[in-house]
Amino acid sequence: MSYKAEYIWIDGTEPTALLRSKTKIVADGEQPPVWGFDGSSTNQAEGHSSDRVLRPVFVCPDPIRGGDNRLVLCEVEEIDGNPHPSNTRALAREVAERYAEQESWFGIEQEYTFFKGSRPLGFPEGGFPAPQGPYYCGVGADVIFGREIVELHMDRCLAAGLKLSGINAEVMPGQWEFQIGPATTLEVADHLWVARWLLYRTAEEFGVEATLDAKPARGDWNGAGAHTNFSTKAMRENYDAIIVACESLGENDKPLEHVTQYGAGIESRLTGHHETAPWNKYSYGVSNRGASVRIPWQVEVDRKGYIEDRRPNANVDPYVVTRLLVDTCCAALEK
Ligand code: ADP
Ligand code: MN
Ligand code: MN
Ligand code: MN
Ligand code: MN
Repeated sequence: MSYKAEYIWIDGTEPTALLRSKTKIVADGEQPPVWGFDGSSTNQAEGHSSDRVLRPVFVCPDPIRGGDNRLVLCEVEEIDGNPHPSNTRALAREVAERYAEQESWFGIEQEYTFFKGSRPLGFPEGGFPAPQGPYYCGVGADVIFGREIVELHMDRCLAAGLKLSGINAEVMPGQWEFQIGPATTLEVADHLWVARWLLYRTAEEFGVEATLDAKPARGDWNGAGAHTNFSTKAMRENYDAIIVACESLGENDKPLEHVTQYGAGIESRLTGHHETAPWNKYSYGVSNRGASVRIPWQVEVDRKGYIEDRRPNANVDPYVVTRLLVDTCCAALEK
């Protein structure tokens, strides 16, 4: 007997990588082996020597095929065993190991937008819906679009064992959010990539596209972000560490270093309007949804907890944002 292993990897498309996957039949009792693919078709190789390697790094039950079938998230390597340049997980792995004793946790809020054809789901043919207001966490067919997809996606994430912690409807019609976390550095990012794959795959069954575009509709509509909630053991125990982390993110060239790697089209979303801080001006504050980094109200009350980096775009690479936050904040906290 055998099972189906769906090998999932992140390609080399710029500025925003795409997910790819293909199926391997594996004998029962065997782990999914190292496999390969044609990198010339995924922006990961030139034509003449295009073999690239898929190394399984996170395996979970396949909630779509069911049974013993599995999803297999992979890192991409060159045939000599080195990480491929598109392999951002390899860098995150190094940084996570360097600061392992600080015990970083993350919760990432993944916002996204359903599209039917060229329009957000729920936008009327040839016109615009009523302005923002009733859609966020709304109920009813006049304000909610795509809930059957969202519910199925949530069930599948849970059946796969992903650390999904909630969902909500967002401020624009057809716009939604799910959260992954709290989880450790590689875990939150691995689970988020698999949850994204399940989202695209689930929406596909409804003839709907799910996009992580940071500004999916022009005009007076919120963009789509990936607020990244972060803590270390010290931050979960005392408020001084919370302030050290917030200050470290504002030092020298840190704001620009982060923001330029927080996803394609960051200036189109971080305008200073629509609950964002301007991309070129770092700020932090308690309970302030117009700051770059928010200290939740409860965290100030408890004098411990976590911070929320509100800058990352929906299309951010979670291996990149988690690596940057650990690198910047843990280095400062170590002092
Ligand atoms: P918001 O109020 O900004 O919409 P959400 O409830 O959508 O916040 O998301 C908050 C996320 O932060 C959740 O994924 C949650 O698991 C995560 N979280 C909670 N506590 C911590 C912590 N100590 N460290 C990191 N992440 C945390
Ligand atoms: Mn072939
Ligand atoms: Mn949220
Ligand atoms: Mn949100
Ligand atoms: Mn948030």
